[in-house]
Amino acid sequence: MEKTLIIFKPDCMQKRCVGEVIQRFEAEGFSVCDSKMMTLSNDLLNDHYAHLTHLPFFGEIMDFMSSCPVLLLIFEGDNIVARVRKLLGPTDSTIAPKGTVRGDLGTDKMRNIVHASDSPENARAEIERFFN
Ligand code: ADP
Repeated sequence: MEKTLIIFKPDCMQKRCVGEVIQRFEAEGFSVCDSKMMTLSNDLLNDHYAHLTHLPFFGEIMDFMSSCPVLLLIFEGDNIVARVRKLLGPTDSTIAPKGTVRGDLGTDKMRNIVHASDSPENARAEIERFFN
């Protein structure tokens, strides 16, 4: 069964949307495999967002992602990586369609409720990174 890493970002924690997002994933037939709560360190975030370090607002993303403890869940299901990304909608919440997680609950490009792995290979690497 395919797995994916979900991080409930600080905006999701503060808006108390965690239950709503989990409900959408469970309604899709996905199951929780593991969970943990933690404040993300700079080392973890530098690894996780290595593809973004060149961006001028990388510091802002780091500050946002480490601003409070976040919930991390591993979900599993058939073809879950692609299907979760479809449930989320695009990165920018302002253009994400209604009915998607980011379109319904997100604020902007940075505050977009959750992270989800974008390929099965990255899912394996991210699960290793955050859950050892
Ligand atoms: P995704 O999370 O949809 O896979 P990326 O991997 O491109 O998107 O970016 C990781 C995260 O960095 C985004 O979810 C968002 O929180 C933040 N981010 C990316 N691009 C921008 C941007 N142009 N402005 C603000 N935040 C951004």
